[in-house]
Amino acid sequence: MVSRIIPVDNFDLVVFGATGDLAMRKIFPALYHRFIAQQMPADARIIGVARSDVSEENFRKLVQENLQKFCPQSVKQHDNLQDFLNNIQYISIDVHGDKGWALLQKAMRADDDTDNNIVQAFYLSVNPSLFGIIASKLKQHHIAHKQSRIIIEKPFGTDAASAKALNAALRTSFSEQQIYRIDHYLGKETVQNLMVLRFANALWEPLWNSTHIDHVQITVAENIGVQGRGEYYDKSGAMRDMVQNHLMQLLCLTAMEPPSRFHPDAVRNEKVKVIESLEPVAQTDIVRGQYLASNINGDADGSYHQHVNNPDSMTESYIAMKVNIGNWRWAGTPFYLRTGKKLRSRCSEIAIIFREPPHMIFPKSSHQRANSLIIRLQPNEKIDLHTMAKEAGLGGMRLTEAVLNMNFQDTINNQLDVQDAYERLIMDVIRGSQTLFMRDDEVEAAWEWIDPIIDGWHKANHRPLPYEAGSAGPDDALMLMHRDGRRWQEIEP
Ligand code: NAD
Repeated sequence: MVSRIIPVDNFDLVVFGATGDLAMRKIFPALYHRFIAQQMPADARIIGVARSDVSEENFRKLVQENLQKFCPQSVKQHDNLQDFLNNIQYISIDVHGDKGWALLQKAMRADDDTDNNIVQAFYLSVNPSLFGIIASKLKQHHIAHKQSRIIIEKPFGTDAASAKALNAALRTSFSEQQIYRIDHYLGKETVQNLMVLRFANALWEPLWNSTHIDHVQITVAENIGVQGRGEYYDKSGAMRDMVQNHLMQLLCLTAMEPPSRFHPDAVRNEKVKVIESLEPVAQTDIVRGQYLASNINGDADGSYHQHVNNPDSMTESYIAMKVNIGNWRWAGTPFYLRTGKKLRSRCSEIAIIFREPPHMIFPKSSHQRANSLIIRLQPNEKIDLHTMAKEAGLGGMRLTEAVLNMNFQDTINNQLDVQDAYERLIMDVIRGSQTLFMRDDEVEAAWEWIDPIIDGWHKANHRPLPYEAGSAGPDDALMLMHRDGRRWQEIEP
């Protein structure tokens, strides 16, 4: 088979927050995998920056230990870990101060005046309160130039005003074309496959509207609680932490009009139009919850209130909502979104539920289901089409549900490992492709739709409903569907 790995240009990637959780768990493993795959040039450099005063040698050891922990198979199967580590440098900088920046400047190979084709990128894997200061220090110390790229992680603000302020702070040093706002959901194989499915096949487009689709469900369920991030989470909640970014992105990709071409701004323009078409949500179309303490199979765990150490907390660890999109394609087809912690299992998926056949010629059967297209993001990325079929054999016309696997795993990609979203996204930054990253107006439009909903809760002093850990969420969320004659997909691994 011809290799489908297209090597990227040589680069210097500076990772701020290099000793942190995200860097060790996701960024270094992603880079190591691209190194093994030879997509990354053998002499591409990674420069770790953090506050800790550790030597370069000890930093490399730390990276090595974490690679052994987070991708043990890859380390075992390849003997080039040392080559990868040799390309890593470390510089200790407290970004509030002025020490260390000159060293960083010296370590960079790319600059504005030389045409050496070395891409320069800065990954800000640090608290968002440091984004503005790092951006301005990079400019002040003549480290970043007009072609440099800067990568930032959510949260992109906590409301429209703070998102605008953050965007403005970044723009004092970087143009929008240089800024890559990561939402790792967009780097997932199936999310991209959704775009191909919709826009590279003529089959679906005539069906992709309210005439044929009854409703859409978007679920991002986690089975863990907020332990360890309690303080951050309690100021945020499911609406800010998940809906504003991940669920909103999935909704946009499902609902958007076909862009004129697969070009960053063409795609992002269509996504913004979806967000701007979202109708205000009535409080009666929202269910918020907080998980209770649990004891599942002898495994005792605290409640949301205990985990955030705040018995009066009114922040939601679960949210379900019915969202209407006010445009010709989707009028009459609601999108039901739900996300929560401590649910039955970890499961992220988009379910497109088609309408029932207009007239049923077969005897009524409990096996009859409307067709559905299930796009599973995690675990086990896949796309399944649920259809009705005849149960094989004699004995009359009995109907049964048949599931078609739309990944065509056996025919097109059985020889390729599915990459982690971070691998694809970091390589996209080096290639200079912004299609899978959020643009400033997208982020701001999402907050502008969400802010009045959160304000409404505050004004009404709204208290989330308790729900059992290990369940599918509060009973009222089931009612949100039942009252419309619908039901949620099962939350299953
Ligand atoms: P962390 O607390 O584990 O690491 C923070 C890093 O920032 C450390 O390397 C620390 O040395 C460095 N740092 C802190 N203050 C500094 C300063 N003044 N100067 C220089 N370096 C400084 O955080 P994390 O979990 O790795 O998260 C990093 C960012 O990514 C956060 O914005 C977080 O919201 C976001 N994020 C994290 C995850 C995750 O899974 N961890 C997921 C999504 C988004």
